[in-house]
Amino acid sequence: MEHILYIVVPCYNEEEVLEVTANVLKAKMQGYMNNNKVSTKSKICFVDDGSKDSTWEIIERLHKEDSLFSGIKLTRNRGHQNALLCGLMTVKNQADMVISMDADLQDDIDAMDEMIDKYLDGYDVVYGVRSARKTDTFFKRFTAESFYKIMSFFGAEVVFNHADYRLMSKKALDGLESFEEVNLFLRGMVPMVGLPSCNVYYERKERFAGESKYPLKKMLSFAFEGITSLSVKPIKLILSLGSIIFMVSIGILIYSLIQHFNSNTVSGWTSLIVSIWALGGLQLIAIGIIGQYIGKVYLETKRRPRFLVETFLDEKEQEKNVDE
Ligand code: UDP
Ligand code: MG
Repeated sequence: MEHILYIVVPCYNEEEVLEVTANVLKAKMQGYMNNNKVSTKSKICFVDDGSKDSTWEIIERLHKEDSLFSGIKLTRNRGHQNALLCGLMTVKNQADMVISMDADLQDDIDAMDEMIDKYLDGYDVVYGVRSARKTDTFFKRFTAESFYKIMSFFGAEVVFNHADYRLMSKKALDGLESFEEVNLFLRGMVPMVGLPSCNVYYERKERFAGESKYPLKKMLSFAFEGITSLSVKPIKLILSLGSIIFMVSIGILIYSLIQHFNSNTVSGWTSLIVSIWALGGLQLIAIGIIGQYIGKVYLETKRRPRFLVETFLDEKEQEKNVDE
């Protein structure tokens, strides 16, 4: 039995690239169907994220001309991550595997071949990882790689150099569905699902038309969003900082007392300087402790699943195997 593949493509004001993208993906998909690599029920699904240009009209036309294309229209712009999740959750019951990719074809579509092979080998999540960023300038490479390093320093576990180009099986998507959080950072959430996963490497190209919807400002806020929605490590850092400052204040106390008894100080200096350091440290510790509780409350409100079952061996499973 061949597996049904859905390709989900979020689009925001992509009228300049959509036609080309649709043709390229269609050719790719037909190639897979001809080689019996995927089922003929496979589809390409565009998610219009409240575009202000003619993106939706193009999607409607594509769908009318060829049932290979399907489309979802959001009521308004909700951002890439929300549009992508909407696409994934809408198609997951029709598909065996879903590949998510951007509309601008920056991600090498040939990497899909290997992604599907890996899926057939039994992997539930296949991450598309950018290999050498040869085409990027030094500045772009530096900022992009710093992004991943800073993220991991602040406790956000992400796959290095992986954006949202990935394949997920139906099982992995069912797992993802049980994450009920509203602030989304998908590339941090997918590793939390677990299940067997692997990487596929490809070279990222330039955008062939239209402009990036992720300028530096959006990138920075995306990184902040990623850190704050995945981890409470910044709060822990406040607590550590408070403790360090409090330790320093003890050193300052000793130093000030020595100065005081050597009569090197004006009156009042010793008590003042020790109070400043000790109080500063204590206040940071107090904020850090309160923060720890708030962090716990925050993580609780996300209502993340406590566990997901990968395999359960019982009688029913055996009966099913005998039937097959
Ligand atoms: N996108 C979206 N909603 C938004 C912004 C972007 O659906 O509010 C889509 C966009 O159409 C594209 C993908 O997200 O398919 C990635 O955007 P872009 O290529 O502009 O980002 P970059 O590759 O420059 O980081
Ligand atoms: Mg792009």
